[in-house]
Amino acid sequence: MKQIYLDYSATTPVKEDVVKEMIPYYTEVYGNPSSLYSVGLEAKQGLELARERVAKLINAQPAEIRFTSCGTEADNWVLEGVADALKNKGNHIITSKIEHHAILHTCEHLEKNGFEVTYLDVDSEGFVSPEALEAAIKDTTILVSIMMVNNEIGTIQPIKELAAVAKAHGVLFHTDAVQALGNVPIDVKDLGVDFISMSAHKIYGPKGVGALYIRKGARINNYMHGGGQEARKRAGTENMAGIVGFGKAAELSMNNLDAHIEHCSTLRNKLWEKIQAEIPHVQVNGSMDKRHPGNLNVSFDYIEGEAILLLLDAHGICVSTGSACSSGSLAPSQVLEALGVPVTKMNGTIRFTVGDFTTDEDIDNVVEVLSKVVARLREMSPVTGKEGW
Ligand SMILES: *Cc1c(COP(=O)(O)O)cnc(C)c1O
Repeated sequence: MKQIYLDYSATTPVKEDVVKEMIPYYTEVYGNPSSLYSVGLEAKQGLELARERVAKLINAQPAEIRFTSCGTEADNWVLEGVADALKNKGNHIITSKIEHHAILHTCEHLEKNGFEVTYLDVDSEGFVSPEALEAAIKDTTILVSIMMVNNEIGTIQPIKELAAVAKAHGVLFHTDAVQALGNVPIDVKDLGVDFISMSAHKIYGPKGVGALYIRKGARINNYMHGGGQEARKRAGTENMAGIVGFGKAAELSMNNLDAHIEHCSTLRNKLWEKIQAEIPHVQVNGSMDKRHPGNLNVSFDYIEGEAILLLLDAHGICVSTGSACSSGSLAPSQVLEALGVPVTKMNGTIRFTVGDFTTDEDIDNVVEVLSKVVARLREMSPVTGKEGW
């Protein structure tokens, strides 16, 4: 049975060219980049080339890129590091109700330590309004953190407008761009943001490596304490192979961005058209206009998302309910809840995300299986299984 992977927002396969650049850093170029002899210096060169490549993808300076162990660490670092650096100025942080748990759970942790957090509402398509942000800013506000692209529904926020509001009040602005990287063009200078979180494994790079963009001059304390790595901002011997892989993935992404967006959005649009044509009682969540090119989040009325997921898996098709990080928990998705999606629809929600290796034929096969799976589950449902429904 051929596997069809439609969960690229959970993670992506590592591209072969990326693996090829990584391997020597395990075996030949194994030196510590902090060492002064030649195998160390060679590693240092690999590290700095990766930094340049990641910087280029977001139009930053290489010195503004600090590598971390994952996107989650970048999110933790920015919230904790700014809170720590500016605690004498204020204790108020603003974020939204639809952030990734790496942001929400860190904010909850900060609340336990005396910080005050405002969680902004979103509209029915998942947008944060610049007016609502403006109204929430106080004298004590030290940081605003709003994600660039939502991981469940794919909504692309008006980051430039939101960052301008924060800037006008002298407040630092962070955006979690883990889902945006490689899927929408990012230019830090144009956006006017102070911090950006990134992760390699969502852009066909390896797992366990991320980065935080820190605008030159933006105030933030260190998160990891120890040696002098990453310009004394983030201690710990670098994950060399991982970082080199991140750099290569960033370069490939940069060269392929337009084609990637075109490929994904074409297949995603086809998937939605076919679902609408073949399956009744469906609803798309989020905005069809400002949306991650590969994301389709659909509610199938009257049935359970988990049941759909398991039956698709039996046919070799990988999708997710809500976000992968929260699957396995029974709590409803905080994102769909914030959108106001009714519980009856929320329970039957599936996130499909297509990527570079998805084919036209995959979409045909998925919809063929999906329409049978949904029909079968609806026949079994006490609501929709009745005669004459
Ligand atoms: C995946 C993801 C993260 C976490 O990144 P990791 O590298 O897996 O820790 C953070 N934010 C968003 C929006 C994500 O999609």
